[in-house]
Amino acid sequence: MPTIPAAFIGHGNPMNALETNQWTTAWNEFGASLDEATAILAISAHWYIGITAVTAMDHPRTIHDFSGFPDELFAVEYPAPGDPQLARSVMATLDPIDVGLDTDSWGLDHGTWSILAHVRPQADLPVVQLSIHSGLPLDEHLAIGRALAPLRDQGVAIICSGNVVHNLGRVEWGRPGQGADWAEDFDHAATELLRNRPAEIAELLDHPAFSLAVPTAEHFLPLVYLAGLADAAKTTASTLIEGCDLGSLSMTSYRIDG
Ligand code: ZN
Repeated sequence: MPTIPAAFIGHGNPMNALETNQWTTAWNEFGASLDEATAILAISAHWYIGITAVTAMDHPRTIHDFSGFPDELFAVEYPAPGDPQLARSVMATLDPIDVGLDTDSWGLDHGTWSILAHVRPQADLPVVQLSIHSGLPLDEHLAIGRALAPLRDQGVAIICSGNVVHNLGRVEWGRPGQGADWAEDFDHAATELLRNRPAEIAELLDHPAFSLAVPTAEHFLPLVYLAGLADAAKTTASTLIEGCDLGSLSMTSYRIDG
């Protein structure tokens, strides 16, 4: 079986689920490379809890985990089936790392479905989500990313969803398609690392804009999982699309191939 591509996607505004724009077009183009995938493992910024867990229900619900958006966004359903067998396989692959099986709590949050609505609009591949353990240091997230790598040879498309720069307190609604200088600097530093030496991603912690770009860890950490996957495959990432939006969001997205 071929090695399935993996990606980190900058999801940004949840309204992207309903729109067609430069970002969603790039997500859709990535989806076209998943013909040989049999399932999706999604790692979303929006399932950030005190344990590493994997969804294991037959029919994960679509979670509308936001407020203040139009009714049409709350009406979106992403009806992909779950895959309890894949959930158990994720547990076995990560052993001896502790992983909880979630049969009745989470589902597919908007970090996952807002992008899959474009990556895989037909919702025909089963999807499981892996949570991000809020209590782990960066190196352990990198190690989990590395440990997930064998799943890519078993038909699983691993899709990480966050934003490299994500500072909602600094959003400038008048700057669509643009980032503040500090945001662009941090975004470029991340791209340099992902393209050349993803295993060194921890260097970003020392970047002068780190605390502005990453005021909280959850949107940044999905990128660390992709860096771990790249390192395990002894490869580097390429960009699906680059750029910032609204001053303080990076929409830069990455893929790795076989
Ligand atoms: Zn988000």
